Amino acid sequence: MSFQNLGLSAPILKAISKQGYTEPSPIQAKAIPPILDGNDVLASAQTGTGKTAGFTLPLLHHLSTTQGQGYKAVRALILTPTRELAAQVHANVKAYSEFLDVTSAVIFGGVNQNPQVKKLKAGVDVLIATPGRLIDLENQGLLSLRHVEIFVLDEADRMLDMGFLRDIERIMNLIPAKRQNLMFSATFSKDIKKLAFKILNDPIQVEA
Ligand code: AMP
Repeated sequence: MSFQNLGLSAPILKAISKQGYTEPSPIQAKAIPPILDGNDVLASAQTGTGKTAGFTLPLLHHLSTTQGQGYKAVRALILTPTRELAAQVHANVKAYSEFLDVTSAVIFGGVNQNPQVKKLKAGVDVLIATPGRLIDLENQGLLSLRHVEIFVLDEADRMLDMGFLRDIERIMNLIPAKRQNLMFSATFSKDIKKLAFKILNDPIQVEA
C-alpha cells in the first residue's frame, strides 16, 4: 500500500513526502479510502497510530477539490478535548496543507480571544476547536458553523470523560444536518457507542 494508491491529490502527496512518510500507517490505509468516498467513519485508534493524518489528509483533499457554499465559511470542524491536542492537530493541518489553498485556525480557552477572532474574521476553511471556546464565540456571534461539511470528533472517549457531552450536543445543533461525520476514539464504552449512534450516519467502522 502506498499513499499514491489512496487517491490523494498531488499537492497533498508532496506535503506527505516532505514529512518523510513513506507509507500509510494501518489506520490511514483503512480510514482514508472510505472518508474520501464521503462516508461517515467510526475509527478505533490510539494516539501514535497516525490517526490525525488519517482524518486530516482526506479532509484536506475534499476541501481542496470542491467549492464551499458560504462566503469565508468554516467548511470543516475538528473538535478536540484539550488545547494541547487542538494545537497539535492544527500543526498537522498546517503541514499537510502547505501546498494547498486551504486556510486553518485553532481556538481554545484560557487565552485572550481577540487574536482568534481576528483569524476567524479573515476566513477559515478548517477550524480546530475545544468545545467551550467554540460555543462561547458562537454565542457572541463571532463565528458561524452553518456551512460545515465535515465534522470530526477526535478522542471522543476523552471528550466524554471530561464531561463534554452536553457541549457536543449543543455544537451538533449549530452545524448542518447534512454533513460527513468522522469519529475517532481509543476505547468503545457503552456511552461512546450511544454517542456514535447519535452523530454518525451509517458509518464504516475501521480499526488500527
Ligand atoms: P498521531 O497518532 O496522529 O498522533 O501521529 C503520531 C505520529 O506519527 C506523528 O508524529 C505523525 O507525524 C507521525 N505519522 C503519521 N503518519 C505517519 C506515516 N504514514 N508514516 C510515518 N509517520 C507518520
